[in-house]
Amino acid sequence: MKMKLAEIAKAINAQNDIEQWKDVEVTSVSFDSRHLDQGSLFVPLQGAQDGHQYVPSAFTNGAAASLWASDHEITDHTHPLLVVSDPLEALQRLGKYYLHKINPIVVAVTGSNGKTTTKDMIASILSTQFNVTKTYANFNNEIGVPVTLLNMESNTEAVVVEMGMDRFGQLDFLSKLVNPDIAVITMIGEAHIEFFGTRDKIADAKMEITHGLKEDGTLVFNGDEPLLTDRVKDLKQRQMRFGRQLSNDLYATSVHDEPRQLSFTANEWPDDEFTIPMVGEYNVNNALAAMEVGQLLHITPAHMKQALANVELTENRAEWVKGENGEQILSDVYNSNPTAAKEVLKTIAETPVKGRRIAVLGDMLELGDAAPKLHASLAEEIDHQKIASVYLVGEQMKNLKDKLIQEGYPAEDIHHYAADNLQQLIADLKSTLTGDDIVLLKASHGIHLEEVLAALKAE
Ligand code: ATP
Ligand code: MG
Repeated sequence: MKMKLAEIAKAINAQNDIEQWKDVEVTSVSFDSRHLDQGSLFVPLQGAQDGHQYVPSAFTNGAAASLWASDHEITDHTHPLLVVSDPLEALQRLGKYYLHKINPIVVAVTGSNGKTTTKDMIASILSTQFNVTKTYANFNNEIGVPVTLLNMESNTEAVVVEMGMDRFGQLDFLSKLVNPDIAVITMIGEAHIEFFGTRDKIADAKMEITHGLKEDGTLVFNGDEPLLTDRVKDLKQRQMRFGRQLSNDLYATSVHDEPRQLSFTANEWPDDEFTIPMVGEYNVNNALAAMEVGQLLHITPAHMKQALANVELTENRAEWVKGENGEQILSDVYNSNPTAAKEVLKTIAETPVKGRRIAVLGDMLELGDAAPKLHASLAEEIDHQKIASVYLVGEQMKNLKDKLIQEGYPAEDIHHYAADNLQQLIADLKSTLTGDDIVLLKASHGIHLEEVLAALKAE
């Protein structure tokens, strides 16, 4: 982005006189004074700390200008400040203004799981024909979305925006902020059920992504989910369904799970086989969603095939890592929930192995009252014939331990650790693992299995 302060001041209705700074040029936005680019506009946000205290260091680190809330006394009269009643609101307004100015095709992606993966796949597919900007990392909330918009190069032709939510109204707001041409709902799971209570309510909240959908826009959604097929009936905009069921517009006709990748065929292009460099069959659905977006924007199957095979994933997704004895580690330590954990257990159970398959599973957070039952439900995918032993971490995983014992899984192959005892877990794993084994690491990020990964990884 490149804008002069005069233009920005007008777009956000700045309250002070900026005449002396009107030609100062801003080339990015940042709300973190430690990591900002030269020439950026600093946005002091109110978090645990008040961002205004970092304005001086933002200028030291190269900021060209800063927003400033009108209820704060101005202490700096030498640097360019734009006074507004609410810096966050100004950031959002500026994002919207800039989006209109650049006017790219807008694709918005939500869903309980798979947003980032699908976002990366869509961006990869669209990049074969367009200049694409996508959400950086996981910047998917009311701050991250405008930041994504303001990070667009002026030649951006399509922007792929991830949208997260943990309460009602959030997607309504974000959708109306960007007015998508295409909105995608990957799936409805149990994430944030603590706040919503039921999956029905989660589905209601996800549907808010259609509130800002352009009239001639399209909703791409998981047609295997009855909560969604029920809710799209009144929707005026065009709809496209993907999933495993044959009633969908796009569905996989065959899926091959390979050790490090998945290949599949789809009804629309019977002669093509598509490959994605990742495991977990749920990723086929993510790919199908991305391909529907590609179809809508007239990307050829050959381009989609190439784009999917080479998709650049945002870091921190499930990845295969080699352990110090040569064992294969499937690490998925930044995110967990019942749907995803079951899927990845299935993947592990089907991966060929010389030695043993070992599952290290940590608590899945934010599941509220349903947590004990949902943790216990993982037992469905843990068969002693396939998974030789389990190492469980955290209070809630005791529910899984009890359930497994109840179902006849040998108690001596179940190990349980308190969340603050990862050192013991690491020591026990190190003493048992051999190069022939496969190890799964899966937990919510709060459990910090990345420490276990770091300890087991080959140098
Ligand atoms: P976040 O809420 O953290 O932004 P996200 O929705 O962006 O998550 P991803 O980062 O793409 O999701 O994937 C997170 C995890 O969710 C994956 O590692 C995988 O375990 C699981 N997952 C991804 N896609 C699906 C899907 N379509 N269905 C079920 N689980 C999925
Ligand atoms: Mg994400």
